Amino acid sequence: MSELYDVVVIGAGPAGYPAAIRAAQNKLKVACVDEWRNFDGTFAFGGTCLNAGCIPSKALLESSELFHRAKTEFASHGIKVGEPTLDLAAMQRRRAQIVKTMTGGIAALFKANGVTAFQGHGRLLPGNRVQVTGADGAETVLEAKHVVLASGSSPVRLPTVPHDGKHIVDSWNALEFDSVPRRLGVIGAGVIGLELGSVWRRLGSEVTILEAVDQFLPMADQTIAKEALKHFKKQGLDVKLGAKVARAAVQGGAVKVDFTDAAGEHVIEVDKLVVAVGRRPFTAELLAEGTGVKLDARGFIEVDEHCRTGVPNVWAVGDVVRGPMLAHKGKEEGVMVADLIAGLYGEVNYRVIPSVIYTAPEIAWVGQTEEQVKASGRPYKVGSFPFAASGRARAMEAGQGMAKVVAARDDDEILGVHVIGPMAGELIAEAVLAMEYSASTEDLQRTIHAHPTLSEAVHEAALAADKRAIDAMNR
Ligand code: FAD
Ligand code: NAD
Repeated sequence: MSELYDVVVIGAGPAGYPAAIRAAQNKLKVACVDEWRNFDGTFAFGGTCLNAGCIPSKALLESSELFHRAKTEFASHGIKVGEPTLDLAAMQRRRAQIVKTMTGGIAALFKANGVTAFQGHGRLLPGNRVQVTGADGAETVLEAKHVVLASGSSPVRLPTVPHDGKHIVDSWNALEFDSVPRRLGVIGAGVIGLELGSVWRRLGSEVTILEAVDQFLPMADQTIAKEALKHFKKQGLDVKLGAKVARAAVQGGAVKVDFTDAAGEHVIEVDKLVVAVGRRPFTAELLAEGTGVKLDARGFIEVDEHCRTGVPNVWAVGDVVRGPMLAHKGKEEGVMVADLIAGLYGEVNYRVIPSVIYTAPEIAWVGQTEEQVKASGRPYKVGSFPFAASGRARAMEAGQGMAKVVAARDDDEILGVHVIGPMAGELIAEAVLAMEYSASTEDLQRTIHAHPTLSEAVHEAALAADKRAIDAMNR
């Protein structure tokens, strides 16, 4: 007889594993099934984020930034180290070790919380049963009172740009290059294109980024996007906007890329080409015939605002459902669902999900852009503060960028906060908390910020919204 669980989670990425852990904390009997395998064939928990996304990319961003700073900044601090040389193998070993530690940590957390972990393929059968197929092909069926689908996403492939995993690659391959490509092409100036483009640029590649859309970072506040583009161009990222790739092909060990833009047709040759044009929900072999779970036109599992699929006691969370494909969004959905299953309160505030792009300068925002507020017709005010006026940023050799607050004129509510500059991803947390509690700019203005810290830039931007900034001109 198959075993009965209160909750079976399919997928142990940042949406699935928190769902499993929280459900276990809620004293439910939980199993989590995950099929992720690394290039060497080993199983690992953590999904895309820990194995091939957030964590390895941040490891390489950190290492490459230090390499770049050692080359360009140490001398101005009075530190003489000579010309730094790159040991890419060591850098990659560090990246792999961090990933191994973090993914091993999830296995340990499962054990500590009493989650039964299965490594293999999970498939939802009608009647809330989950079939698990192990690496050896052995099948087990788990009975479940509730099933949480958290199968994540996979990279979008372009039919005319055939992936070979060697020359034409996806972001996972591009995190594991064993040599620095002399010429790197990237299709897509989105988050992955900019982060990975930055890594390999800092390590010495000539980087060309081909972006189909004319506007740079259309989802970001455009003051910030313009500032970002200026910095990236200065760093040597050759971002070509409005560049439509017709095809790419491997010829003589290099990749020829044909694209058109406003100036006409072009062909460029690169040594590696990364396709980073978005991700799509992953549901391959997930749903057996007759489960009743519905997919929308784009392949996402249909859910309501509480991640219910419409089939009683079947839930879906993370990249496989609508909304931004972000680890922290998936985590909150997973936790919400686990609490709802236990009869507790659960909610995700989709209006205040922060976004961070881990380039240098870093970019982070929460809430509405100035363009969105303007389009809404609501009277608004804006305050901004440049990091050039921040003593701490100057001391860090990071006096670039700004913090910007967009707020309502009528009731002073903060509607959006946008930062480009040092540690923007950390600074945005204050804005997220403020907006979660519907804070006004006055609330932020009256909150004491330690001096000298980068957080003073957010404080001063809030003051500037009422032309009361102390440490910069009020415009
Ligand atoms: P995934 O992480 O994709 O996990 C799904 C898991 O389910 C996988 O392990 C998969 O193997 C498993 N699975 C799928 N189907 C089955 C099945 N049938 N049976 C068993 N197991 C199954 N987001 C951020 O917030 N911050 C970042 O800095 C960031 N950086 C990124 C960098 C890169 C290069 C990439 C590619 C993504 C990045 N993301 C980042 C996005 C982030 O990785 C995803 O939003 C997040 O991983 C989604 O979590 P998930 O649990 O929904 O899915
Ligand atoms: P993205 O949606 O961020 O960017 C894709 C870009 O490719 C867009 O600018 C799009 O206009 C462009 N594009 C699409 N088709 C094209 C084509 N045929 N030719 C040229 N350009 C084209 O997607 P991504 O960078 O692949 O990232 C995937 C997901 O992973 C995103 O949803 C993102 O949220 C997530 N992610 C997040 C982080 C982070 O939070 N720091 C980092 C990496 C990835």
